[in-house]
Amino acid sequence: MPVSLGTVTASRLRDLPPTIFGQMSALAARTGAINLGQGFPDVDGPASVLAVAAEAVAGEQRANQYAPGIGIAPLREAIARHQERHYGLMLDPDTEVIATTGCTEAIAAALLGLVEPGDEVVVLEPYYDSYVAMLEVCGGIRRPVTLRAPDFRVDLDELRAAVGPRTRFVLLNTPHNPTGSVLNHQELSAIAELAVEHDLTVISDEVYEHLTFGRAHVPIATLPGMRERTLTLSSVGKSYSVTGWKIGWATGPAHLVEAALAAKQWLSYTSGSPLQPAVAYALDHEPAFPAELARDLAVRRTRLVDGLRALGLPTYDSDGTYFAMSDVGALGWRDGLEFCLDLPERAGVVAIPAQVFHDRRPDGVNPGAQLVRWAFCKSADVLDDALARLAAARLER
Ligand code: GLN
Repeated sequence: MPVSLGTVTASRLRDLPPTIFGQMSALAARTGAINLGQGFPDVDGPASVLAVAAEAVAGEQRANQYAPGIGIAPLREAIARHQERHYGLMLDPDTEVIATTGCTEAIAAALLGLVEPGDEVVVLEPYYDSYVAMLEVCGGIRRPVTLRAPDFRVDLDELRAAVGPRTRFVLLNTPHNPTGSVLNHQELSAIAELAVEHDLTVISDEVYEHLTFGRAHVPIATLPGMRERTLTLSSVGKSYSVTGWKIGWATGPAHLVEAALAAKQWLSYTSGSPLQPAVAYALDHEPAFPAELARDLAVRRTRLVDGLRALGLPTYDSDGTYFAMSDVGALGWRDGLEFCLDLPERAGVVAIPAQVFHDRRPDGVNPGAQLVRWAFCKSADVLDDALARLAAARLER
């Protein structure tokens, strides 16, 4: 029986702790620490794109009133062209594309629109935090498949064991936040085969699609039998360094897109009008920007990862996203949360404890207990400053 969304939303979301990203950014602001926690770049995206937004606000266009709920046609058409150009996926911009308020709203709309109470959802753990919140609201039941250090690969046996008679969805995230893992062909094929065999719908969060380092991102929708059962989610924020714009999208077969739209209309109703033409412009006229950003980001990734390793912090390779993970156990810390809460005072730097992206287990063992996530989407100077502060501090517990 469907639950009453109003009541369940209020009580369940109130019971969850506030999002770690906001808490750690507030801690950075309070302490004056360098914020390598919440993932946002310190340099804005292309000037030409910013200019289109400015013109749409205050120029002749004056796109300051409500856009259609599904998004303006030029944006939906540009998103369809983007999927075709990069992945050969052909979409009808009128029925198979909607604009959302960032990928976070696309996630919420997809889950609220599709998941029924009691449905089981196979999810990669560590989870992006909003997956847990939204699945709680929907009454969806998480079936985690855990990506474990040092490689953060999908264990195919664990994956197969996670699918049962009540499984209806797979919620994917690749490139994966927070591990930096990019799913490979073998992993994607195994997921696709299971989805076809068990008639599962895949909701695929690909928000870091362009930010990979030497490994190509492959949307699962391009695998055999997957286009008709995959709702793909992404946004402009990460690819074009405008995380505060909050314009994202959901693409896929009309029945899945319609379900997401049915929920989206009660969330934001419609997404930022003046930003929509600017995002369309970015996708059509600055198609090379994300690949350039990824090349540049790869250098900064290496700078931070090498720097952390030189400080005695075992840090894992990251093939994509804004993030890399360290194991603070080598410095005597059993608890990454304790490390992160202490770090601003100790060293003037903020990082994110990855343990909060894991489920509590009956045996109390959290596979992310000692893992800490660092954002490298910052200028080289900022990364160097953070590394110098860490080097000057006593990092051992
Ligand atoms: N996606 C960003 C991160 O993982 C944060 C988004 C948010 O603050 N909700 O750091």
